[in-house]
Amino acid sequence: MKIGIIGCGATGLSAGYTLSQKGHETVLYDTSESELGGIAGAVPIGRTYIDKFYRHIFTSDAEILSLIQEAGLNSEMMWIEPKNGMYIDGKLYPFTNPIDLIMFPAVGFISRIRMGLAVLSAKYVTDYKAMEGITAKEWLVKKAGKQSYDKIWSTLLHSKFDKDSDKVSGVWIWNKFKLRGSTRQNLNKESLGYLRGGFFQLYKKLAEIIKGNGGRFVFESVARISPEADGKIGIETARGYEVYDKVLFTAAADLLVQLCNFPNEYLEKVSKIKHKSNICMTLVADRQISDFYWVTIAERDSPFVLYIEHTNLVKDEAYDGKHIIYLSRYIDSSDPFFSASDEEIKRVFLSYLPKLFPGFSPKDASSWHIFRSVHSQPVVGLRYSDDVLPQETPIANLHLASMAQIYPEDRGQNYAVAKGISAAKKMIGE
Ligand SMILES: Cc1cc2nc3c(=O)[nH]c(=O)nc-3n(C[C@H](O)[C@H](O)[C@H](O)COP(=O)(O)OP(=O)(O)OC[C@H]3O[C@@H](n4cnc5c(N)ncnc54)[C@H](O)[C@@H]3O)c2cc1C
Repeated sequence: MKIGIIGCGATGLSAGYTLSQKGHETVLYDTSESELGGIAGAVPIGRTYIDKFYRHIFTSDAEILSLIQEAGLNSEMMWIEPKNGMYIDGKLYPFTNPIDLIMFPAVGFISRIRMGLAVLSAKYVTDYKAMEGITAKEWLVKKAGKQSYDKIWSTLLHSKFDKDSDKVSGVWIWNKFKLRGSTRQNLNKESLGYLRGGFFQLYKKLAEIIKGNGGRFVFESVARISPEADGKIGIETARGYEVYDKVLFTAAADLLVQLCNFPNEYLEKVSKIKHKSNICMTLVADRQISDFYWVTIAERDSPFVLYIEHTNLVKDEAYDGKHIIYLSRYIDSSDPFFSASDEEIKRVFLSYLPKLFPGFSPKDASSWHIFRSVHSQPVVGLRYSDDVLPQETPIANLHLASMAQIYPEDRGQNYAVAKGISAAKKMIGE
């Protein structure tokens, strides 16, 4: 079969890899070569690459780990036990293990115990359907108590989902707790995984394998998808028009419906799916700023919700002694701050950073980048299973495999890989 894949992120490349390994003629499209890996892409630093957006995987991420192995990159996987923290009430506290939780002064002792139990018990819950009708707020208040909800979780939900935070389903937060609980071999230790040179190394390798299998890449924006009278699907770019037996679209559904005519009923379904966007600032510093890897900011006035000092997770000589820090903010793409100039975002982010680390000075940043991603986090609302779009679209032979269809799990490279592989198999009737 001749199959076109739109999108060279984790989903598209995993689908392309699967199809080309099975001998299908595979052509992948993305807007430019620098988009290889999609939002899991990377930029060069020192003698290597660094992810545009911070990134790690979990010990339970079986699908991506098996793809890494198949791609021959297993020896490049690193597993590290990081030091995490939480910034709350104007102070930074360690927040890595049960002792940190017991010592955490921001909420009372009973609340701390309830929070710990909520994380630990989440992995034993299997019937997510029972949680579909309750909000994350209701679930958190029930499991972890009102004090910790008011003090911590309401701020964190708000910082991820902004004005949609009260609509988020209990399934979403249960999943987050479940994931964190299941990455601990024992209570004290959480291991996070990183691929040396960034996960981009996996995507680069998949692209090489696809090419080796006879697959092709077209780095041009797809301008139009056209169903043909014989059931085939045409893809139009500035470089021309090519016809396929089947096409898989792997970006967000609201982008798909701009490329092709769909019935109103489908457009209505697509309009229900919302995403939060992300602004991520990468700072390159000449010195270590802290000894934390991941700091969650539970303060409403903070312009960013996460401080991630990547080089406290990954020590790589190829960074040439540079220290890499990410500052991340989730936001609506319609918010004027999302379109603010890079300079303005830098100014706002860096003016807050000394609150966390009083020794930090903007002069510590030797270089910086701002990356924006519009479709960063689907808003998983109540009874979300009713909103999840099927892989088949109303147009025969045009399929969709995108981030917002991952459910009850949340977005993540592991699930993108799994979705790409399963979508490809479904298209060829396996
Ligand atoms: C801030 C942030 C942090 C994250 N952290 C982690 C993490 O730590 N660990 C983890 O596992 N996951 C993480 N994720 C999630 C993970 O990155 C995603 O789940 C995964 O990369 C999604 O891949 P995808 O292929 O589905 O989508 P994308 O990567 O978005 O790929 C879609 C591709 O389609 C292309 N495209 C769109 N329209 C067109 C068109 N008209 N023509 C041609 N091409 C087009 C786009 O350019 C893009 O490359 C994070 C995500 C974000 C936003």
